[in-house]
Amino acid sequence: MAQRVCLVHYHEIGLKGNNRASFERQLVSNLKAALAAFSVEEIKRLSGYILVTFTDESRAGDAVRRICQVPGVARVSLAFKCERDPRAYCAAAVEAMHEAESGGLTTFKVHAKRSNTDYELDTIAINRQVGEVLCEAFPEKRVQMHHPDLVINVLVVQGSVFVFARHDAGVGGLPVGTAGKVVTLMSSGIDSPVAAWQLMRRGAICVPVHFSGRPQVADTSEYLCQDLVHQLSGAGGIGRLYVVPFGECQRQIALACPSSLRVIMYRRVMYAVAERVARIEKAGAIVTGESLGQVASQTLENIIATNEVVSLPIFRPLIGSDKQEIIERAQALGTFEISTQTAPDCCTLFMPRRPETHAKLDLVHEAWDLFDHDAMIDELVDHLEYVDFDYCPGYRPPRSMRERHDVLAPRFHKARPAEA
Ligand code: ATP
Ligand code: MG
Repeated sequence: MAQRVCLVHYHEIGLKGNNRASFERQLVSNLKAALAAFSVEEIKRLSGYILVTFTDESRAGDAVRRICQVPGVARVSLAFKCERDPRAYCAAAVEAMHEAESGGLTTFKVHAKRSNTDYELDTIAINRQVGEVLCEAFPEKRVQMHHPDLVINVLVVQGSVFVFARHDAGVGGLPVGTAGKVVTLMSSGIDSPVAAWQLMRRGAICVPVHFSGRPQVADTSEYLCQDLVHQLSGAGGIGRLYVVPFGECQRQIALACPSSLRVIMYRRVMYAVAERVARIEKAGAIVTGESLGQVASQTLENIIATNEVVSLPIFRPLIGSDKQEIIERAQALGTFEISTQTAPDCCTLFMPRRPETHAKLDLVHEAWDLFDHDAMIDELVDHLEYVDFDYCPGYRPPRSMRERHDVLAPRFHKARPAEA
């Protein structure tokens, strides 16, 4: 009896030459974390594939959908694993054809591949052998070599034969943990979760930082950000979310600075705090969801005026994307529904009626010196709050903030009163 397994295909990792083994190991470890709830028996590398076996095979179908979300995965097949016995793999081919039947498929071909040449039949002979069995079982279907409706794959690998008819497309990219760590500025809006996901797909561990309007407004946006992190958990790239209560600082800025430059001041402080978090986290870059010209703060002049407070590189993966493209991606990721719930955050607080869209740097510098920005940044970093998630096996918290928080909590717990 054939066993149901998942066969994971990856391609981009294959291009990485000497790094290949470590990329594969990372992908295996990420898959283990992603499939923790799926009765997995074993996940192992196997001749250019990753094989997932289950103690409860009925979970294999659901596992396919989960695996497709893991960066580094090109395709996933729900396959039959059999002995190297023609009766077993021909029966599995019939079964695979039955499963793929829907939609009135009329043509097929068999595509055999051998990773080991110690099997007595070559691929042409296997194709013929399995093809004959299928023609007998499905007399209404015919073999077609070019562009058939269905390809039945028969893979001879290390003493076993894998048979599968279909594969589901994975998200592609590189395994999380192979491209370092970045701090992502995450609002509860549509764009920034998409930007973070794009970096995870390129293999980066993301450390989101959210600025909330607390205490001036409710903490709703903080919960939305936590929901966004849950929703993005499939990518396995987020281990911790930082929250910065920013309302009081915004009030101080609003009092001290010309109203048209407030937004730029808020953003300069946000970037500077994000950079400090990046230094604490040993992250190599800051990521935002900005897209050129989308709103007032995203004109070239304003981006320059904000950029100059940090020295780490700032990545803006959506800079050239249209809103509609971003929305479509957010819908596919399931973040759109969360991002479109209204929540006041720091973006809605103390907003000027007419924000500057083409900031002049000398005026920006004057406004910047109207409040003690260094003290403000220190204060915000001292009062960071964070919450931890189990989604990212490669995330290591910074030494100064090892303590795990399962709910959003300040960086340091108050020392417990000495016991009497
Ligand atoms: P988004 O949909 O991501 O909120 P947006 O179109 O609303 O973007 P802005 O509000 O100008 O645009 O924000 C631009 C970027 O600045 C965001 O994508 C995000 O990276 C960062 N940002 C904005 N607000 C916050 C916040 N409250 N906390 C953390 N980062 C933020
Ligand atoms: Mg926003």
